Amino acid sequence: MKIHEYQAKALFKEYGINVPPSILCEENAKIECSIEKIGCPCVIKAQVHSGARGKAGGVKLAKDYDSAVKISNEILGMELKSSQAGVKKVNKILIEQAVDIDRELYLSLTFDRANECIAFILSLEGGMDIEEVAKIAPEKIHTDFIKKEFNPYKLVQKLRLSENISLKISEIAQKLYKLLLEKDATLIEINPLVVTKMEEVIAIDAKINFDDNALFKHEDILSLKDEKEENPYELQAQKDGLNYIKMDGTIGCMVNGAGLAMATMDVIRLAGKDAANFLDVGGGASSEKIEKAFKLLISDKNLQAVFINIFGGILRCDFLAEGVKNAIKTLNVQCPVIVRMEGTNKKQGAEILNNSGLKFTVVNDLNKAIEVIRKI
Ligand code: GDP
Ligand code: MN
Repeated sequence: MKIHEYQAKALFKEYGINVPPSILCEENAKIECSIEKIGCPCVIKAQVHSGARGKAGGVKLAKDYDSAVKISNEILGMELKSSQAGVKKVNKILIEQAVDIDRELYLSLTFDRANECIAFILSLEGGMDIEEVAKIAPEKIHTDFIKKEFNPYKLVQKLRLSENISLKISEIAQKLYKLLLEKDATLIEINPLVVTKMEEVIAIDAKINFDDNALFKHEDILSLKDEKEENPYELQAQKDGLNYIKMDGTIGCMVNGAGLAMATMDVIRLAGKDAANFLDVGGGASSEKIEKAFKLLISDKNLQAVFINIFGGILRCDFLAEGVKNAIKTLNVQCPVIVRMEGTNKKQGAEILNNSGLKFTVVNDLNKAIEVIRKI
């Protein structure tokens, strides 16, 4: 789960990490009053779940009161188009005291699955797109893989900053590590972590992602969820108890089992198409669940066809066929539906579909499925 910058900064504050004073403003909020309180110069920041807001015009420095009011009104309500997250409407802005920047650093703690540990990453090239730095000058990114104890100081020293600054950065890293472990975060990123002429170290950006599977332990974090920022299809799927991930292709798929779902997406790719989604209806899907799944699939405006690939084990094929037949009737599904069933009561399942009076393409194996999907 992602949260907003202002929420991440509130957590930073709780853990004793320096952030600039700021006020959050939503629609119709007293922008003028907030600007007066924060003072100028200030920075107006769009609060959307996206990086690279600066480049997209969602982060602007205002020198005086008048320009701060003007910029705030421009950013609040704007459609922010970023390279990372597409178009997002800005419903909230953060009005923040400007910091006199001497250096911009990059600092993050993140899961490193290949090394099975948390990676601590630092760079002097903060403020930039870190993926870009990694591409053109990987030697400028310093990484430590935390295996047992976390001793950030050694890596911090590689930046060759003053002793005072290095100690401050190490302390911040320790606090962030504590935050990451205690709240089950999968990523904490500060880009940029700013050093001022007075040798203060301040987080002027803040990003935290949390492990969805651990959210049940953290009501405080769960309450930070902003439903407006979530993908509407995925949000609906969560409510329906479906394992669903939205993707960019045109072939909707409905599968039981995560492994089979992955393999099905490969099959779609082999047919020269792309999956519109990942959907695992699970082992014991009820016909109600199948209908909900269908509803979700056909609400996708890019959809060209639905491919159902089911292995009938606990979920019998005839039961599935009934569910699919009913869903298609009730929802008046118009697009082609291709069904491949294998396992318990496969024949009965195929009979139900073939005698339904509806248009189904029942295929016996995956090669046939590829052939049919290719022609869509
Ligand atoms: P992002 O583009 O979404 O990563 O948003 P950031 O919060 O990182 O802001 C983008 C850039 O705006 C930063 O890299 C800074 O260069 C600049 N910026 C943000 N806050 C301040 C500030 O308080 N003072 C100054 N001078 N620049 C700032
Ligand atoms: Mn940033």
